[in-house]
Amino acid sequence: MKKCLIYAGNENAKEAVDLIEAVDHLYGQVNTRIYGFGDPKVLKSLEGYFDVLIRDEGSELQKNDMKFDIINITNCLEELYQAYDFDSILIPANYVGRMVAPRLSIRLETGLVADVTAIESDGENIELIRPAYSGKLMAAIRNRGRGPLMMSVRQNVFQWEKLRVEKSQWKKFPFKNIEASEVTLLWTEGQEAMEDIRESEILIAGGGGTARYFDELEDLAEALQGRVAASRKIIDQEIAPRSIQVGQSGKTISPKLYIAIGISGAIQHIEGLKNLDHLIAVNKKRHAPICSIADLVVEGDGKEFIEKLLRRIHRKDQEK
Ligand SMILES: Cc1cc2nc3c(=O)[nH]c(=O)nc-3n(C[C@H](O)[C@H](O)[C@H](O)COP(=O)(O)OP(=O)(O)OC[C@H]3O[C@@H](n4cnc5c(N)ncnc54)[C@H](O)[C@@H]3O)c2cc1C
Repeated sequence: MKKCLIYAGNENAKEAVDLIEAVDHLYGQVNTRIYGFGDPKVLKSLEGYFDVLIRDEGSELQKNDMKFDIINITNCLEELYQAYDFDSILIPANYVGRMVAPRLSIRLETGLVADVTAIESDGENIELIRPAYSGKLMAAIRNRGRGPLMMSVRQNVFQWEKLRVEKSQWKKFPFKNIEASEVTLLWTEGQEAMEDIRESEILIAGGGGTARYFDELEDLAEALQGRVAASRKIIDQEIAPRSIQVGQSGKTISPKLYIAIGISGAIQHIEGLKNLDHLIAVNKKRHAPICSIADLVVEGDGKEFIEKLLRRIHRKDQEK
């Protein structure tokens, strides 16, 4: 029986649930016991997905200002490993996970494969695949050492929807190493919350063919209640920030609707599209690679497409 621990960060329960598919690729579902630990607020929504959910026995984490911070999360995961001897530990590669995973791997004296995007396994030989050299090549990594197989996994690469167990087993764990934080937050400066394109169900993405009128994508995104994304061509020209880049060296996204305007469909861009419901390609050239994978192709100028669609949306709004 393989024992896997998935850390459910304090950001998003779905990110932890999706890692069940990663476990599936590692060992299959039979003879695998999946344990979940994380922020108490997130744990409740994992009921039915994980075999075992672990919570803090003494509520030490809530008491006396003992925050659920990076140090305490690492302490807790270390204690859990000492108690359960997991075969593998999976952590979502979000900003908390990226700080916890290396700390934990040092404590456990084991290797860490960061930012895993695919897993090849025949049950015995496991290869963890991740981009290397800024995405110039994909590296397959095997763990030959002792200790658990530790990885942080890129978000949206794996997807898991269905419940696995009728009822998760809840276990209380008496964590001992909960520390008061040595860091005191003095003040924070008002800053607009960074929007994450991965959270949007509708993305209007612009590529090289939109460089002259990229700003106009924002109007369409607003009208469709979506967000703007971009290909690397736009980022490299410093028209938009890297945080909205889709692709192998950018973000992996799974929206319901992806409208790719003036994007050729290079393989490195397509790598970032996972489980889209609908893809509409707007391109001057009907033979651009992206058109071959689109549900709907609009052949023509991207700027004209945006203007016409906006006129149609606004007319509809007025008719209401
Ligand atoms: C290691 C590595 C990592 C990479 N990672 C990424 C990544 O994460 N994401 C990514 O996107 N790329 C990535 N790239 C770059 C990738 O190879 C392509 O160069 C890039 O995706 C091209 O962007 P594009 O299709 O928007 O632009 P272009 O190649 O310039 O294509 C523009 C497209 O727009 C069409 N067009 C032109 N004018 C109009 C118009 N007015 N209206 C409508 N259509 C028009 C053209 O027909 C064409 O199809 C990476 C490359 C490398 C080497």
